[in-house]
Amino acid sequence: MAKPDKRIYLSPPHLGVDERHYLEEALQSNYIAPLGPQVDAFENEFAETVGVRYAAALSSGTAAVHLALRIAGVTTGDEVISQTLTFVGGVNPIKYLGASPVFIDSERSSWNMDPDLLADYLMSSSKTGRLPKAVISTDIYGQCADLDRILGICDQYEVPVISDSAEALGALYKGRHAGVGAKASVYSFNGNKILTTSGGGMLVSDDKELIDKARFLSQQARDPALYYEHSEVGFNYRMSNVLAAIGRGQLKVLNDRVSRKREIFEEYRAALSGMPGVEFMPEASYGTSTRWLTVLLIEEDKFGAGPLEIVEKLEQSNIEARPVWKPMHLQPLYKENHIVGGRVSEDLFNRGICLPSGTAMTSVDIKRVIDAIIKMHKDNING
Ligand SMILES: *Cc1c(COP(=O)(O)O)cnc(C)c1O
Repeated sequence: MAKPDKRIYLSPPHLGVDERHYLEEALQSNYIAPLGPQVDAFENEFAETVGVRYAAALSSGTAAVHLALRIAGVTTGDEVISQTLTFVGGVNPIKYLGASPVFIDSERSSWNMDPDLLADYLMSSSKTGRLPKAVISTDIYGQCADLDRILGICDQYEVPVISDSAEALGALYKGRHAGVGAKASVYSFNGNKILTTSGGGMLVSDDKELIDKARFLSQQARDPALYYEHSEVGFNYRMSNVLAAIGRGQLKVLNDRVSRKREIFEEYRAALSGMPGVEFMPEASYGTSTRWLTVLLIEEDKFGAGPLEIVEKLEQSNIEARPVWKPMHLQPLYKENHIVGGRVSEDLFNRGICLPSGTAMTSVDIKRVIDAIIKMHKDNING
């Protein structure tokens, strides 16, 4: 059967009006290079928006996690704590450095790292004298982790916290922007994120030395000399001037994008929250989620279909939906690694589904998704 309607994507790019203007500036100036005035401006504007002192624009969020861990001194044989319910890009850099991740389960209220489990683990690892080298706290699906609690716990053991806020740019935690307060924080401008440069990332910190070091490492770690002199291994991780121009335009529409994401969530909630077996991702009391993706939990016996079936059926209507992140401790790549708890993230994975949440979606598009879900329920319950 032919696919009937235009495709509705999960979270496609959504351009504002100023990107063209900054791009034109970049083209006119011939700065079609890595680095340049657009990168400097993007870093400054980004730091100001988020409320931190320094920012380094990089080629991806994954690169930003890698540099943050490397600067924290993570090396072969070390342990790094990570949330199990996350995207692999925030975890693989631990492996790049020869270290191993220890995974912590989520709490129900935010779906992010459970601070009690973190406290237990740090307490027991301090007794054996083998503390992790760093903790990566993740802000999943646009919702901030309970960062002050996590920082308080980690401070007791002097373990640095890196915030992976790749999915939460624009979210607030006790009035601060996502990630603010951590030793360093990471954001992503991949094509599916709330703002995009087609691909890119940002590492921020209030520590000037840390960001200087990130810039140095991201440009092949070239020592200050006229000739090419290198005393440590660097990377080619800098953002290009052309992409930074797009980022500057995107930054201007951040507030609009957050409002629209939240409206989309409310439209879904108004139409679907009364259905049997349907529950929406909670919003933790300490903050404001961007609702980067609208996420639901489905109880198969009550609703009549499970998340995988719903994803498949929506696909037949040319609608892109996705299951919730598969926890890292269930991945073939990481199944040998230590997991603390695990039941909560497993449950969220088994029941969770992410609905199309692109900010350019119209109410007609949203209704198409809603109608398809309601029809599925009726067909399955009656049939
Ligand atoms: C997207 C994402 C990343 C990686 O960012 P890229 O820019 O795609 O490399 C890291 N962590 C999380 C939680 C993400 O969602």
